[in-house]
Amino acid sequence: MAYILSVFAVRNLLVLSLALNVSLILRVLLLHDSQDGSFNGFFFAEQKEEALATKITRLSSSVAPSPSLTMAQGDEDRVINLDQSFHGGRRQETGVNDAVCHGDPTMYESYWQKKGDETTVVIPGWQFMSYFSDATRLCWFLEPEFAKQIVRLHNVVGNAVTENRHIVVGTGSTQLFQAALYALSPCAEAEPISVVSAAPYYSSYPLITDCLKSRLYKWAGDARSFSKNGPYIELVTSPNNPDGFARRSVVNGSEGILIHDLAYYWPQYTPISSPANYDLMLFTVSKSTGHAGMRIGWALVKDEDVARKMTKYIEINTIGVSKDSQVRAAKVLKVISDNSEGPNEGDSFFEFSYRVMAKRWKQLREAVQQSGLFSVSDFPPQLCMFLNRVFEPQPAFAWIKCEGDIEDCESFLRGKKILTRGGKHFGVSP
Ligand code: PMP
Repeated sequence: MAYILSVFAVRNLLVLSLALNVSLILRVLLLHDSQDGSFNGFFFAEQKEEALATKITRLSSSVAPSPSLTMAQGDEDRVINLDQSFHGGRRQETGVNDAVCHGDPTMYESYWQKKGDETTVVIPGWQFMSYFSDATRLCWFLEPEFAKQIVRLHNVVGNAVTENRHIVVGTGSTQLFQAALYALSPCAEAEPISVVSAAPYYSSYPLITDCLKSRLYKWAGDARSFSKNGPYIELVTSPNNPDGFARRSVVNGSEGILIHDLAYYWPQYTPISSPANYDLMLFTVSKSTGHAGMRIGWALVKDEDVARKMTKYIEINTIGVSKDSQVRAAKVLKVISDNSEGPNEGDSFFEFSYRVMAKRWKQLREAVQQSGLFSVSDFPPQLCMFLNRVFEPQPAFAWIKCEGDIEDCESFLRGKKILTRGGKHFGVSP
């Protein structure tokens, strides 16, 4: 608190935040820390989407006559933060110069506000005091009601097979990813197992994988150029962060073990064509419902032994997962399922979130087209079995390419006070 107050004492800048990534985020107070010259993002007051659109247009229309972005008058002090990484302002002290929490999904807040008390949870002081949820289950810290609502929601949406699967709950899918690495790594090997993902890959995978310099596993980069013999773990993110494309495994080895990160396989981002049916699938409320702050994710795991080892990892790591959060997550999933099936279908969460994403992609494509400096991918339209309509994927992140002579898109945009994450964080060119 004292730190926040001291940060407020230095010059603070009101920031306009777009955010398609998690964002097209609508509010940010950006604080310029004059001591180390770094920028620290801090969520604060809401900006109207219309204002956001105006800003995009102002920026893009100002570039129309020549292929270089110029600031609209009065915008000199504004920063558009599309990166949304939070370093706590201590980057230099800790030596940590990269952040994991990108893309804060606050764009669904207005929906949940409208739902009012439907998702309110009251927990008396005497409840959930035990470490255990159900000692007879493989995952003994999984709340039965949460497990029930996970299965129900997947059945309603049709995005994942839940039959013959073990559910393991985690403190976000970030913890489950680490639990999966622990569970899938052979312990008898002399060398750590290689962990790969096709570039552009989620920029946190290398950081998380190598954070503790484990002797079990090691980041080995782009799956497309991986040719080592022997066992390996391939991360398949579909739809992919950052580029939004549907993906399959790419390494052509016989000893591959796959982790499917399906954080974005929900109908607001991509047409749901069939239920995903893989050995190890990761999901999270952060991207499905927007409740990143609950820190709740779940894994659907086919192999009992793997599920047991993942559970063991979470036991050693955090002795389970917050029951308060699981109960709250259960309530949110229940409301989504109830509204998707019931008479209020038109007011369902996925209808709302689909419209939010559609509107923002339309705005982004218009701005990109007007600028003449950038390009974004086109995606083939597909039938969504859940929404029962044909549409093009509308990813949570905007993967933008600088055209022409601009070599380093991140630096170029930073020069215009637009904060982004450049290609090198994702294993490709700047
Ligand atoms: N996987 C992917 C592909 C992500 O983009 C993110 C969040 N940016 C996560 C996992 C992390 O999810 P959680 O908040 O559940 O830890």
